[in-house]
Amino acid sequence: MINRIFGFFSHDIGIDLGTANTLVFVAGKGIVIREPSAVARHKKSKEILAIGSAAKKMEGRTPATIEAIRPLKDGVIADFDATAAMLTHYIRKVHESGTIIPKIPRPRVVVGIPSGVTEVERRAVVDAALSAGARSAYLVEEPMAAAIGAELPVEDPTGVFIVDIGGGTTEIAIISLGGIVLGRSIRIAGDEMDEAIVNYFRLKYSLLLGQPTAEEVKITIGSAVEVDKDKKEKFTVVRGRDLETGLPRSQKLGSDEVREALAPIVQELVGHIKDTLEEAPPELVSDIMKRGIVMAGGGSLIAGIAEMVSEATKTKVTVADDPISCVVRGCGKVLNDPALLKRIRVTSGLQ
Ligand code: ADP
Ligand code: MG
Repeated sequence: MINRIFGFFSHDIGIDLGTANTLVFVAGKGIVIREPSAVARHKKSKEILAIGSAAKKMEGRTPATIEAIRPLKDGVIADFDATAAMLTHYIRKVHESGTIIPKIPRPRVVVGIPSGVTEVERRAVVDAALSAGARSAYLVEEPMAAAIGAELPVEDPTGVFIVDIGGGTTEIAIISLGGIVLGRSIRIAGDEMDEAIVNYFRLKYSLLLGQPTAEEVKITIGSAVEVDKDKKEKFTVVRGRDLETGLPRSQKLGSDEVREALAPIVQELVGHIKDTLEEAPPELVSDIMKRGIVMAGGGSLIAGIAEMVSEATKTKVTVADDPISCVVRGCGKVLNDPALLKRIRVTSGLQ
């Protein structure tokens, strides 16, 4: 209760700065923002025109003078100014909304960042949070935040295996005693699945699909393995450009062919998970065998991925509840646990 009241007044904030989605958690309130990580701005003046969903809608539709970008595209901060603008926008939005009392304490901010982000970029994210009005800012690595959000015992002397499949990156990590024992951040995730779908149908039907269409196909009928052999194949109808005539054309796509399109990406992901498990110290492997592998991130929602990883690693695999919000829930949890935050943060700053 005390925490709730304190949280309410201070508006402490947890932010998942994902390559595809940005989520914001406010202490005492829960998740208040879930928006695409996108920024639209004027090419020349760099003036920001839109952030979040409004900017994502502009992707692929902008005139020459405007650019719609994904600031963290491949798990690195591809565009620092845009990332800072996004961070500032959300911190201010949350902090200013509901500010009735003028001398409200400025928030503490915990930001989850991809583990491949460099030291210079980390510093820059902290500076951006501080200049947006944070009283203090801490960075935690996404796989650690995801594991905490998934309620895994990251501080215990036991191996926790987490796989977070996002848009631009997949983070694979083994955690024990509050630290990442072994981890890799690879640039194969949801975006590559979309690209694989585009490429596959371009070759198969000479049909060019837009990225949003490919993503929708993946979400509605995509799968990693044949989920239920007795079930009938699923179908969807899409519109794309016929590459021979140059004109729009409709095409019916089946789940079997989408699975074939996704197979190379899924195989590569599974290979990285297997390699990480093979590199793990034996004691931790035995812990992992007991608890199993936990998956998070939007990419873990693809049908049959858990079964496939389980089959390949001979280990139990579960997908966390609401996998897309694991990182931000983890950031929110550490706001309430200063000792844990102190242990796991990778960078911190005070104003
Ligand atoms: P990030 O942390 O990099 O921002 P997210 O964890 O938000 O990424 O996941 C975004 C990715 O998850 C996107 O590639 C999106 O297409 C994919 N995704 C979301 N829902 C599903 C679903 N039901 N099935 C398959 N992929 C999904
Ligand atoms: Mg993520």
